Amino acid sequence: MKRVKTVILGAGLSGLSAAYHLKGRDFVVIEKAGKPGGLCTSEQKNGFTFDQTGHWLHMRDDRIKSLFSMLFGDEFVEIVRETFVFSYGVYTQYPFQSNTYGLPPQIIKECVVGFVKAMYENDKSKAGENFYEWCMAYLGEGISKHFMIPYNTKIYTVHPKEYASHWCDYYVPKPTLEQVIEGAVTAPSQKNVGYNATFKYPENGGIGELPKRLFDKCEKEKFIFNVHPVGINCDEKTIKLSDGEVLKYENLINSIPLKDFLKLQTGSARPWSSEISDRMKIASVSYLNAAFNRKLGHAGHWFYIPEEKYMPYRMGSFSNIYSKLAPDGTGSAYIEYTHQGGFSDIELLKEKSVELLLDMKIINDINDILFMDYRKIENGYVIYHKEYFEDLKKIENWCAQNSIQLVGRYGKWTYAAMENALVEGMEAAERI
Ligand SMILES: Cc1cc2nc3c(=O)[nH]c(=O)nc-3n(C[C@H](O)[C@H](O)[C@H](O)COP(=O)(O)OP(=O)(O)OC[C@H]3O[C@@H](n4cnc5c(N)ncnc54)[C@H](O)[C@@H]3O)c2cc1C
Repeated sequence: MKRVKTVILGAGLSGLSAAYHLKGRDFVVIEKAGKPGGLCTSEQKNGFTFDQTGHWLHMRDDRIKSLFSMLFGDEFVEIVRETFVFSYGVYTQYPFQSNTYGLPPQIIKECVVGFVKAMYENDKSKAGENFYEWCMAYLGEGISKHFMIPYNTKIYTVHPKEYASHWCDYYVPKPTLEQVIEGAVTAPSQKNVGYNATFKYPENGGIGELPKRLFDKCEKEKFIFNVHPVGINCDEKTIKLSDGEVLKYENLINSIPLKDFLKLQTGSARPWSSEISDRMKIASVSYLNAAFNRKLGHAGHWFYIPEEKYMPYRMGSFSNIYSKLAPDGTGSAYIEYTHQGGFSDIELLKEKSVELLLDMKIINDINDILFMDYRKIENGYVIYHKEYFEDLKKIENWCAQNSIQLVGRYGKWTYAAMENALVEGMEAAERI
């Protein structure tokens, strides 16, 4: 048995951040893949650079801004978001709720009237019940019907009545009446409403350059790759690894999916942790890396696709966002679709994606496509199950009593971004 003060599970951004901030201390990082970075990695093909769908870094925290500056100096670009919704055959600006100009008049009317009614009539006390009630309370019937419900049903794979709303206040822009009316009667000028108006991106190498540079600043010998835990006993504070080694730790930082972490428990937590794990649900993301022999027919960065008739929920363009991500004169995109569990309809996804690209006039002809490669993210979007809050409270109390810190979107089992991963890894290290 090997003794180590701190074990970090997972070498994505949150595990890397913890490792970087624990420099000089006694720790190991256990990572099942052969390299660090997790979801924040990039691949190259024929001169095109693809991230694992869009991974755009929005920073608010000064500590993370400093970390980014230390890693990149001036080797980055800053981009102002240009995002759109494509529905009813027209492009409107994102967010939908304050940019309905251009939609058929009846739909604009339903959205504006619904918003006014929500302001003055709808019951706000129900907003905490679920995401559907939150939308009805703050955005009203029209906006809910024409965007929020269909789009979120697609992305989360279940109706918004079936999941919680606690994340909305941060991530879903709540417009004022003035913004809704202005957005309905005036042609859009880019207004940058919302949490992600600008973002920074590495000058070269794709977003994968971020974990690469962070890893370069870490003590690499403390990372063990291609190994995963096969049993975790939090009473004895031991972890059995797939290579047969057993680690005895004092502190544990977990960034691997909480659902899997709970299933790995072998101590007294086992019965309830396994039961909760069975209740936890997550949407997987199947996506296509697409390359075109021409520039795209629209210059937007990414596009939300709420209508049910289109299979993908979102499509974005790497080359529109940053031209260096594709060879001169060409274009590239990612096209995303969510589902629960396995997925085998790859040809159908390709066919439906081509239909979408043609309807959007992103391409003129199927022959514009150089290649479309299928990829899958097993753990994409956490679905807040019915007992989510009680279950998470129980888990957090148990973690606090057992020197376990949960970090990152999947370790904490929530909706969170790359910046959160960096912050949480750093703060976990600081507490130790
Ligand atoms: C489709 C999609 C788009 C996104 N777009 C953005 C965006 O534009 N901007 C943004 O800020 N964020 C975005 N995110 C969120 C972002 O990817 C995450 O917040 C962040 O990458 C989480 O980092 P992490 O280290 O916590 O988790 P991960 O990146 O998942 O890292 C976890 C690590 O643990 C390893 N691991 C898993 N299981 C085990 C095991 N059993 N044993 C050992 N190791 C294991 C994995 O291999 C991985 O390396 C997006 C996410 C998705 C799914």
